[in-house]
Amino acid sequence: MNNFEYYNPTKIIFGKDTYDQIPARIKDATAGNRIMITYGGGSIKKNGVYDSVMESLKDYEVVEFSGIEANPEYDTLMKAVEQIKENPVDFVLAIGGGSVIDGTKFIVSAAKYDGNPWDVLTMKEGCKFEYAIPFGTVLTLPATGSEMNSGAVISNSRLKEKRTMGGPQGFPKFSFLDPTVVKTLPKKQIANGIVDAYMHTLEQYMTYPSDNLLQERIAEGILSTLIEVGPKVMDNPADYKAASNLMWCATMALNGTLRAGVAYDWATHMIGHELTALHGIDHARTLAIIAPNLYKVKFENKKEKLIQYGQRIFGLEGSCGEEAIHRTKTFFESLGVQTKLSDYTDDYKSTPKTIRKRFEERGWEALGERKDLTPSEAEKIIEMSF
Ligand code: NAP
Ligand code: FE
Repeated sequence: MNNFEYYNPTKIIFGKDTYDQIPARIKDATAGNRIMITYGGGSIKKNGVYDSVMESLKDYEVVEFSGIEANPEYDTLMKAVEQIKENPVDFVLAIGGGSVIDGTKFIVSAAKYDGNPWDVLTMKEGCKFEYAIPFGTVLTLPATGSEMNSGAVISNSRLKEKRTMGGPQGFPKFSFLDPTVVKTLPKKQIANGIVDAYMHTLEQYMTYPSDNLLQERIAEGILSTLIEVGPKVMDNPADYKAASNLMWCATMALNGTLRAGVAYDWATHMIGHELTALHGIDHARTLAIIAPNLYKVKFENKKEKLIQYGQRIFGLEGSCGEEAIHRTKTFFESLGVQTKLSDYTDDYKSTPKTIRKRFEERGWEALGERKDLTPSEAEKIIEMSF
């Protein structure tokens, strides 16, 4: 087992009818009375989440920042940063999916940063977010795990860039996880959530055997549960048992538990982010496009784990690595998630080369758990995805 540190300070409040506890949780973090709520395009106004959260906040002075889009945009978020710098707030409450939560992580960090926040996202030397306004979340979409981790992904469509950030200041103080929110999600978003959680698990599992038997089995538990409940939630999003299991799987897949003591990959995500930046493809769908081909290109690296995965998750026998990749692809497709780049855009011919060049320019010569996935291999993986 590799050495590791494990730390997660986010309090989870899971279940139905819990939003009346929001003020008590805010009081744990601040004695202040001025709250900013952040949200997206208005789904929370249609499904009643906005009303019940606002009811719970009736004793607070609440300012709103809405319009955080899917793949949150730097320019949009900077408007909230300016608003807070002019009129400070004591706490920020994000209400939404990964985009609103990630966007809020950026807002609370950038509002406490004196330099140019873009320098932090582009990892300019010496630039990092260290402080943040305390914030919490009300999750409305099980997918990203952002509700219980310290990372965020921010887009800049002017530059066709999508960049990651993180740090201890990025952990929410608390997150409310009510599985009844799943019933108003469009099927497409449910499928995205299942695939994203599945891929977060694989990124931390499909590496070489780590000797961390517990982490491997927790990962296998999440994968099997997603295969079991995913189709049930797709059929009936109001199925509370299925939705609650999906929601907890998605959180557990990326809250630090799976990475303890194991080698992790994340190359599928790094390549996938470029597909979103260039073509606007939903995050989860980029992962479904990349992962099967990445596992083919890196087959020798991952062979042993692919076989274990095939045997334990799909009940296959013998040397089943290739079949395990095929089953993964088929699972994504069974949820209505297409796995070819050409399913999403006609403008893909130059994409592999563009991404290779970007990786070379950024010095990203060595992705993956063995730090041996080269920009040329990234190019090949994308070519195989046509
Ligand atoms: P999302 O982009 O937050 O939301 C997608 C859409 O679903 C939005 O239009 C949203 O509407 C709608 N929606 C959310 N909850 C709803 C509900 N209960 N009922 C109806 N509609 C609802 O999707 P996401 O998959 O959660 O987040 C994707 C982003 O997270 C990407 O940028 C990805 O790169 C990032 N990500 C972050 C991490 C991390 O660890 N931080 C990990 C993986 C991915 P509204 O606009 O009304 O909200
Ligand atoms: Fe993801």
